[in-house]
Amino acid sequence: MLRFKALAESSNDPAVSVDYPACFITDYFACNVFGTDKQKQYLTHRAFSMLEDVRQGKISFDRTYADEVADGMRVWAREKGVTHYTHWFHPLTEGTAEKHDAFLGLEQNGNPIELFSGNMLVQQEPDASSFPSGGIRNTVEARGYSAWDVSSPVFVYNRILFIPTVFIAYTGEALDYKAPTLRSVSALDKAAVKICRLFDKKVQSVQSNLGLEQEYFLIDRNLFNARPDLVMCGRTLMGHESAKNQQLEDHYQGSIPSRVLEFMRELEIECYKLGIPAKTRHNEVAPNQFELAPIFENLNLAIDHNLIMMTVMRKLAKKHRFKVLLHEKPFAGVNGSGKHSNWSLCTDTGVNLFSPGKDLKSNLQFLCFLINTLMVVYKYNGLLKASIASAGNVHRLGASEAPPSIFSVFIGDQLMQMLNEVESKSLQKLMDNKQRLNLNMGILPEIRLDNTDRNRTSPFAFVGNRFEFRAVGSSANPASAMIALSAALADQLNTFHSDIIAAQSKTSKQSFEETVLSVLKRYISECKPVVFNGNNYSDEWRKEAAKRGLDCETSTPKMYDTYLRKDSVAMFKRSGVLSEKELEARNEVKWEIFTKRVQIESRVLGNLAVNHITPVAIRYQNVLLENVSQLKVVFTDKEFKQHAAIQLALIKEVSEHITEINHLVEEMIEKRKYAN
Ligand code: ADP
Ligand code: MG
Repeated sequence: MLRFKALAESSNDPAVSVDYPACFITDYFACNVFGTDKQKQYLTHRAFSMLEDVRQGKISFDRTYADEVADGMRVWAREKGVTHYTHWFHPLTEGTAEKHDAFLGLEQNGNPIELFSGNMLVQQEPDASSFPSGGIRNTVEARGYSAWDVSSPVFVYNRILFIPTVFIAYTGEALDYKAPTLRSVSALDKAAVKICRLFDKKVQSVQSNLGLEQEYFLIDRNLFNARPDLVMCGRTLMGHESAKNQQLEDHYQGSIPSRVLEFMRELEIECYKLGIPAKTRHNEVAPNQFELAPIFENLNLAIDHNLIMMTVMRKLAKKHRFKVLLHEKPFAGVNGSGKHSNWSLCTDTGVNLFSPGKDLKSNLQFLCFLINTLMVVYKYNGLLKASIASAGNVHRLGASEAPPSIFSVFIGDQLMQMLNEVESKSLQKLMDNKQRLNLNMGILPEIRLDNTDRNRTSPFAFVGNRFEFRAVGSSANPASAMIALSAALADQLNTFHSDIIAAQSKTSKQSFEETVLSVLKRYISECKPVVFNGNNYSDEWRKEAAKRGLDCETSTPKMYDTYLRKDSVAMFKRSGVLSEKELEARNEVKWEIFTKRVQIESRVLGNLAVNHITPVAIRYQNVLLENVSQLKVVFTDKEFKQHAAIQLALIKEVSEHITEINHLVEEMIEKRKYAN
């Protein structure tokens, strides 16, 4: 009783008060980031120019200036009370890793000095031997290096200077998510530029953009601590649905509870200081579920920001006596959480390649990028699914609120009709009297409104000016999905380029536009099976998808096998994103994490059943037994039969359940032994 009282009281706790900066967001935005403005101020002119050239991809980092850069950084950080620095990396565990070192050295005579050299900034050898490497580091040369990713600025959090780094093995293989992310966006940049230059010679680079909508649950810390399954697995393993859950959908975008709002406010303040452009906050569908969406940014930076944000969320939740649940499905029976990944490509000339244009050339270019992306989802259907598969996400996928475990693309009926026309008509017929490519594009902005919200059932949806990769899980490092997508599109665009060149060399009669269109027509017929605008949850779709040859695998470990299929290995190799050795290692890690997660859940479930549920059941049964024996004393035999009937039935039922539970737990242990 006491315990429940404590829980109830703590749930009614007033909100934790927050110190709000008495100024506009723009006054302190990115104040804890060593961005270009601070670099200009704290670095020598030549060190600053060198960094600018590195960021623009003109040169690689010139180590002769490393000391100057480090020194400027240290001076800036010291003004913020920073005493330590860390190489911050993204290991394959899906979390982030940090090991702090003090800005401290000793002179020969033992005098302490402040120390942060260029070498310490640029490259480190964190021991980090316990991070999963999938066997890459089991050799004699088992060293792993972290190296600064100059494209992501250094920042200060908790009085620590964070240096975003890649983590690679001595032999050059990537041991993290960041290195292949950088390789994949660079491969996509090159391939996309090649296509863009067919239309506009001025294009020099193509940037990948990403906007990540982060969903999460917030629950009272004491309630959380009362559930060993939540504590150890991040989700409840047993329990029953609440009579009132989300049926009325009265939580969705309702007024935000004040205690939660204070948490959100403080989270946003921390985000702004870190340069994270937090934009939208609202209640999500399930009770206690919320969302935070920042403004989209350069893909690599958006991922870094998302990972820091998850860390900040966890820390701040503690202060507000909450626990943040980032698990994809913490509670059965209500919606789970995802991380909708809004992805687009933009040229340095300011063209969004997923936005239709106004003239023949720009519309044709739009079609090239749209259709080649459809080709990617068609050809690498199973791979994209594997890229988001995890022990947590598997409980969310296919449940009634999340994308199912079959990958298709939603483009809406109007775009579908347009593709049909492009496929069947000649260029001449597609042009209007002003010689424009008439794609009925005038109506696109309206389609967009329809698209975005109406088909929530699609794992991958075109939403007017971007794709929304909805299958990504809330706890995941989104890099896993983005690496597969970007690598595959880079490879696909290279194929497309060759196909155009080949088609051009076959006939000199066709105009460039006609040639491009002829290749696109072929692609449309090929990839059409992956386009699906209907209800992804329906049983008919499952059958239909199998008929269309789409990947219908539902077992997570088997999904991972797709990474090692010949076509995947060849694609990753051609695009230069991951070698076969790296793919094998990564898969090994994915399998291991999956197995361990399931193993932990199984152990916790057994423990709960035997050590928590069974004793309570026995205690309850004893109460019943006591009740029955007292009834026997006060009633006649006839009355007793009548009044003790329910209790006697319950006593029997409890015994049966106890036997059943313990029998099933034993069976589960046997199965686990076998699995091990
Ligand atoms: P919804 O819930 O309707 O999907 P939100 O406002 O929650 O919309 O999130 C939309 C996300 O998409 C934001 O992060 C936003 O910045 C991002 N976004 C908008 N336009 C683009 C674009 N062209 N490329 C990438 N992301 C975009
Ligand atoms: Mg949203």
